[in-house]
Amino acid sequence: MLIGQEQLQSALMGQISGGRHVHAYLVCGAPGSGKRTLAAWWAQTLLCLQPGKQGPCGRCGCCVRFASGNHPDYTLFTADKGKNGVEDIRTLLEDLPVRPYEGRYKIIVIAQADKLTPQAQNALLKSLEEPPEYAIFILTTGNVQMILPTVRSRCEILHMQRVQPRILKTVLQERAPQADPLRMEAACAMADGCIGKALELVGDDDLFARRERAYRQLCAVTQLKKQDVPGLLTAFKGAREENVQLLGFWLSMLRDMLCMKIGIQALENADYAAELEKNSRLFTTGQLKGMMNTVYETQKRIAGNANAGMAAERMLSELLEEMS
Ligand SMILES: [Zn+2]
Repeated sequence: MLIGQEQLQSALMGQISGGRHVHAYLVCGAPGSGKRTLAAWWAQTLLCLQPGKQGPCGRCGCCVRFASGNHPDYTLFTADKGKNGVEDIRTLLEDLPVRPYEGRYKIIVIAQADKLTPQAQNALLKSLEEPPEYAIFILTTGNVQMILPTVRSRCEILHMQRVQPRILKTVLQERAPQADPLRMEAACAMADGCIGKALELVGDDDLFARRERAYRQLCAVTQLKKQDVPGLLTAFKGAREENVQLLGFWLSMLRDMLCMKIGIQALENADYAAELEKNSRLFTTGQLKGMMNTVYETQKRIAGNANAGMAAERMLSELLEEMS
């Protein structure tokens, strides 16, 4: 079943009803956006003996074998360290000249195609350029820049859609029913429209502990006095990604404070609503906007390799000025 990908789904189903498909697809999207699910769904739809309007029938012999992982005309290859070279691609394509056993197509999914070496991608290129008429390749990637332009140009590009928060929430309620509802909302807000990411986040206790710390630190910042700066700077002693994430939490919370100030209810941190609302009363909307800007610029600087301690010190003194 495909969730939240209606546009892609109907475009691809249009290819089935129009009797038109291409020999190579490149599915692009962030980690956790469901690229592999889409690739498998499309493969099963193509192999299905009686596809419906929405996709595979789920009942025919082909669907049953596909679901049990035993369809002879379907291969899933995941590129990775140590499994990404020319030889691996040659082995994968060894049987390509052999006609499909069951149906009309022989489908090869290459997941994480960006992990293939350029040489391996070149080895694949020949088959993409002159495929047997029954062959269909579905490549997936989270990093389209690492796919050779020659390979890209042979593929129809499919961009995963961002799934709406309310759909993410329904999925979480179904698949992680034990999770705290407010935590679910927070996970949906942080998931960037990706179902896989939302599911991962909702069970990530460390993440929520870091977020709680971030909230305490933000509170300390909003009551900032000059003599407190050295203490707050210790929050930025961690790795680059941790600092970027910390400022991401601050941005999201400042955003919520601004939303409450102007009467917008869609909060990203519903579990902190009461506290944030109290905090938001300390500032004008202009001040909150200025603070968000400062934090955003600092986050960009740190992500772009600036010295975190220095960037944070500058940020704190700018925030001091904005809040006074
Ligand atoms: Zn079927």
